[in-house]
Amino acid sequence: MRPTSAIVRLNAIVENFKIVCRLAPGSKNVAVIKANAYGHGAVEVARALHDEVPAFAVAFFEEAVQLRDAGITKPILILQGTLGDEVVAEAAARDFWLLLHNQQQIDQVLSAKSTRPVRVWLKVETGMYRLGMNLEEAQGACEALVSSNNIQPDLVLCTQLACADDLASPVTKQQVSKLSSFAAQHKLPLSIANSAAIMAWPESHADWNRPGYMLYGNSPFATAERNDEGLLPAMTLASEIIAVRNVAPGVGLGYGLDWVAQRQSRVGIIAIGYGDGYPRHAPGGTPVLVNGARVPLVGRVSMDMISVDLTDLHAAEIGDFVELWGQNLSVNEVASSAGTIGYELLAGLTGRLPRVYPK
Ligand SMILES: *Cc1c(COP(=O)(O)O)cnc(C)c1O
Repeated sequence: MRPTSAIVRLNAIVENFKIVCRLAPGSKNVAVIKANAYGHGAVEVARALHDEVPAFAVAFFEEAVQLRDAGITKPILILQGTLGDEVVAEAAARDFWLLLHNQQQIDQVLSAKSTRPVRVWLKVETGMYRLGMNLEEAQGACEALVSSNNIQPDLVLCTQLACADDLASPVTKQQVSKLSSFAAQHKLPLSIANSAAIMAWPESHADWNRPGYMLYGNSPFATAERNDEGLLPAMTLASEIIAVRNVAPGVGLGYGLDWVAQRQSRVGIIAIGYGDGYPRHAPGGTPVLVNGARVPLVGRVSMDMISVDLTDLHAAEIGDFVELWGQNLSVNEVASSAGTIGYELLAGLTGRLPRVYPK
């Protein structure tokens, strides 16, 4: 068998959820498990968190259906709301909560012929300028929704922070106060915080928070010093060395022969590539752990393989354990080397990569 997998410690995710609850003790925290639980396996993560969380959140309807069909019974908040009248009735029947962000979705809920009322959150625009209704529109929407028999009485007002991971930005406090005063006027509960806000902006903690990335054990901040909450990285992306070659000075290696040995070198070939989700744009020098020691990536990332320079690691041989990221090498560091963020690397892990869940 190919020696490549994402090893996922589900109990680390449970521990990270408890850290969320300690940081925001007055809030209910919806576990965000969209994008296959940031690559970790949505059904397995949902099962592990089931007894801890009040609800789950996913991006869209099909993700919620997949969880229900797998036997997950907790409420599931659908972050992009829905499109289509028949979906409203189905959401009500299956206990999916809808985060509505425009008039069209609101009209669908108001005119739906459901046998039971649906639970609704309303997205309000406070400064991100992506999804959400401005305060004036939200005013009318609140009134219409609250007086409709089609929705459950506990409407939640929600907004999304644009700059929560920027500790110097004034925008977060502005967004928080904008939504808070609107919610106070309407005496409605609210939801603001994502991972970065849960960790850095206590004033954003509200009736409901929406932690995602931090559940998987990584800091949502670019700067490492904010990861002082003891989050446990849940995934180790693991592989093995499948070949070791000697490369003479001046000889090129891999597609395009991009990397040329400057000295007599030993190069290890590892059984992982962009077909698994390892970033193709990771440049030479990106760190890889072989038997726990850092070695640099060399040459281009292929679909099924990468190469590393083992010259300074005399003992390395075929079959040696490789960590691409995990407990000993942060996915954030690999992402930063590849010019992206850890979120993208985790969400980009492909279907062919086996997920393994040790007991
Ligand atoms: C993805 C998402 C979150 C979670 O954000 P993290 O930074 O991963 O914690 C929260 N709210 C909404 C609306 C989202 O789409």
